Amino acid sequence: MAQNELDELYGDDVIRDHHNNPRNSEKLQSPDIVADAVNPFCGDEIHFQMNLDDQNRVSEVGYKGVGCAICRAAGSMLSEAIKGHTLEEAEEVSGLFQDMMFGAEPTEDQAELLGDLTSMTGVRAFPIRIKCALLSLTALEDGISEYRQK
Ligand code: ZN
Repeated sequence: MAQNELDELYGDDVIRDHHNNPRNSEKLQSPDIVADAVNPFCGDEIHFQMNLDDQNRVSEVGYKGVGCAICRAAGSMLSEAIKGHTLEEAEEVSGLFQDMMFGAEPTEDQAELLGDLTSMTGVRAFPIRIKCALLSLTALEDGISEYRQK
């Protein structure tokens, strides 16, 4: 992996901004959904909390990410992308995100749903970092399926 390429990636303004100023970083009291995922490889941890309103929409998100810049930024971006959406829509977003990380080019409509997550396309050049980008997605999906089993 060329160091200058990686520097370029970390230099991406959108990624750096989310890494430095994670969105939805306020901790929620008694959240409806709790979702956590860990990637022992680089010590990444993602913690999501979600509250649902009576329309089954994600009304509040509490997000905390520990670890590398890609993992932290992706979690912050995902927390923004799911807010205001139903769980089904959140799953759609996470599916689009996963497809994009494995090479799919999102359509204009899909890009709108993905929001800042589209800036993660640069990570595709670094296969080892794709896992970091997708850790938040693993957390989200696990959290949702656990909630449904309740
Ligand atoms: Zn990582």
